Amino acid sequence: MLVEELPLPEKAIKLLKERGIRKLYPPQEKAVKYGLLDGKNIIVAIPTAAGKTLIGELAMLKTVLEYGGKALYLVPLKALANEKYEEFKVYEKIGIKVALSTGDYDSSDPWLKDYDIIIATNEKADSLLRHRASWIEDVQVLIADEIHLLNYADRGPTLEIVLARFKQLSGERQIVGLSATIRNAEEIASWLNAKLIVDDWRPVKLYEGVYFNGKIIFSDGTIKDVREFYPRDDIANLTVETIKDGGQVLIFTNTRANTIRISRRLKSKIMSILGRDDKLKLLQLADKMRRASSSLIGEELANLISGGVAFHHAGLNYEQRKIVENAFREGIIKVAVATPTLAAGVNLPARRVIIHSYWRYDPRIGRYEIPVLEYKQMAGRAGRPKYDEYGEAILIARSMDEAECLFAKYIRGEVEEITSKLAREQALRGHTLAIIALSQNTTLSGVLDFMKNTFYAYQYGVENMIVKVKAILKFLKETGFILEEDEKLKPTAIGLRVIQLYIDPLTAKRIIEALKANEPKHIMAYLHLICHTPDMPKLYLRRGEYEYYAELAKEYEGKLFFDIPNDEEELEFYLAEIKTALLLYYWIEEVSEDEITRRFDVGPGDIRSLTQTAEWIAYAASELAKMLRLNEHLRVLSELRERLKYGVKKELLQLVRIPGIGRVKARILYDHGYRTLEKLKQARIEELIRIPLIGLETAKKIKQYFGLEIKEMEVKKKREKAEDKSSILYWIKYSG
Ligand code: ADP
Repeated sequence: MLVEELPLPEKAIKLLKERGIRKLYPPQEKAVKYGLLDGKNIIVAIPTAAGKTLIGELAMLKTVLEYGGKALYLVPLKALANEKYEEFKVYEKIGIKVALSTGDYDSSDPWLKDYDIIIATNEKADSLLRHRASWIEDVQVLIADEIHLLNYADRGPTLEIVLARFKQLSGERQIVGLSATIRNAEEIASWLNAKLIVDDWRPVKLYEGVYFNGKIIFSDGTIKDVREFYPRDDIANLTVETIKDGGQVLIFTNTRANTIRISRRLKSKIMSILGRDDKLKLLQLADKMRRASSSLIGEELANLISGGVAFHHAGLNYEQRKIVENAFREGIIKVAVATPTLAAGVNLPARRVIIHSYWRYDPRIGRYEIPVLEYKQMAGRAGRPKYDEYGEAILIARSMDEAECLFAKYIRGEVEEITSKLAREQALRGHTLAIIALSQNTTLSGVLDFMKNTFYAYQYGVENMIVKVKAILKFLKETGFILEEDEKLKPTAIGLRVIQLYIDPLTAKRIIEALKANEPKHIMAYLHLICHTPDMPKLYLRRGEYEYYAELAKEYEGKLFFDIPNDEEELEFYLAEIKTALLLYYWIEEVSEDEITRRFDVGPGDIRSLTQTAEWIAYAASELAKMLRLNEHLRVLSELRERLKYGVKKELLQLVRIPGIGRVKARILYDHGYRTLEKLKQARIEELIRIPLIGLETAKKIKQYFGLEIKEMEVKKKREKAEDKSSILYWIKYSG
């Protein structure tokens, strides 16, 4: 089917063609035939890169342009939301307003009412529903991307609830679910009253194989000898071969440390086969990476990039990730070595995908083999449409027996079924409270009626949930988040607030109990309180760290809100909380990012996500303290929240409020005597640009903050005068 045959307005068709889309891929065509553009609910379960997103886009274009309705596009991760936002912004050319909504959970974002396409994470969408955002009524089509993540314990239940709520809204609304290939897609389709499209069509042919002892055995029975460039270095041989043939390679491994180790091992080998032009581009890129981030990890990346190799994992910060992803897409970086987080979403195809390890480790359950679904997601990254005629996904075996097992399990094997994880207590606690808060005077059977809309009820029947729901109602009554009168369930004021703050009721319980029972304490007590909640991810203790944190816990004895537990297992969790709290403490005490990276073996991306979550919980705690009129705690928590946001001591809080001034620049200004906004306002421009790291741009921002204009010429002259006076010593002191 050609794009111009689609029943869409002319301007939409023109824009699609401009993007190089002329003909629909077969699964896309099927979706249209099944009623995608007539408002029918559709589930597609097709391989990676088979064009799922466009199916969602077509439905959105129809709704927005022809019916004036809104479209809500749901994704499981913030990184994906950003990616989709960048992608969908092209529609602004034809007058469609596109918005990204991922941040602040305590808001109904009324500004979104003016937008047509809204991209949100599942969690954000859930929080918007809890805040009864009025514009939700106007959403006529909901796209659930990566809907197979219903299967995941941490993210699945929220998506399930959002879909259930959407199903419950009155009027005709369309749901489009985009899924990887899974075994029981028909269950999801039937749950959502949707037509199902299952197809194994791919734009580029995929060969799956297992490598053992110099040979790749492919699923079609062919055997390929791998040229030996380096004795006993399988990964290098598999990589060099593809690069020499003009392709790119994506390697998946299980740990971050492995991504770095493999990249280092490959660097010189890849570099030696690159041409002059490539090397030049890579040097420029390495330079860009260095300028974008002066951290240890950035330096390591820059070094590797100069040889055509990069690693990619969740420890990278946003800028680092973007540089790697864009350069890989442009073909400048030849090899990317990644943890599986990359496979979960970001679209980064390569001719050859090597699955270096199919083992994972989880401290709670030990070592386990990855599910087939995960393997298929990684393998599906092989083959770049338009660039490669085929893609190859290769598992590595260490023996013939292992090769056979890998073949049976991953290549010939069937992908797992997905199952609802809504019955997990942690998920059910918050969602049950939300159901009660959002309905007037409901009852136990009212709660269960709502639950009937869920995938859990579809799979197991709602009766299987009754015991758990009852236990949760008991907990919610005991904590004072709900009341029961004549079997009617009502949220209390504080219960309602817990729902809006988007925290686990158990988090709220711990915070409230700790604050009520204690006078204000050392700042570490609040950080530990944050880490003692189920909403805060924890750093695990590494081997040999136990003693250190046990000592530290003793030093803090009596100073925290919670005492050292006697139980062995609980103690281990407690020490992990202390470790996480210590990272947060270093952050707000202005320890450099590099030092934190080294000390805790984390990346800048982890620091960011941990401090953001901690800031969120600190905010929620301060809101609870406000409601309970615990004013002294409120004061501490409000300040702590801001310190967590910026990573600074109290004395810098005024300065970091200026846009463009982060923790490093604020410290420099402060140390140069600009301790108050008043003092900074009086500062002359030539004084400011004489301070190291405070360039012209920053000086301008400062002046703009105070509503002062600077004339360009004047600044230029002043800068020339100031430049020769700046000292290298300052750079050394402050750039760490
Ligand atoms: P996935 O199924 O993994 O979500 P995407 O939707 O990201 O795959 O599609 C992969 C790529 O294919 C995108 O770059 C997209 O623009 C392109 N694409 C999708 N449909 C078509 C089409 N009909 N013609 C040409 N390119 C297409």
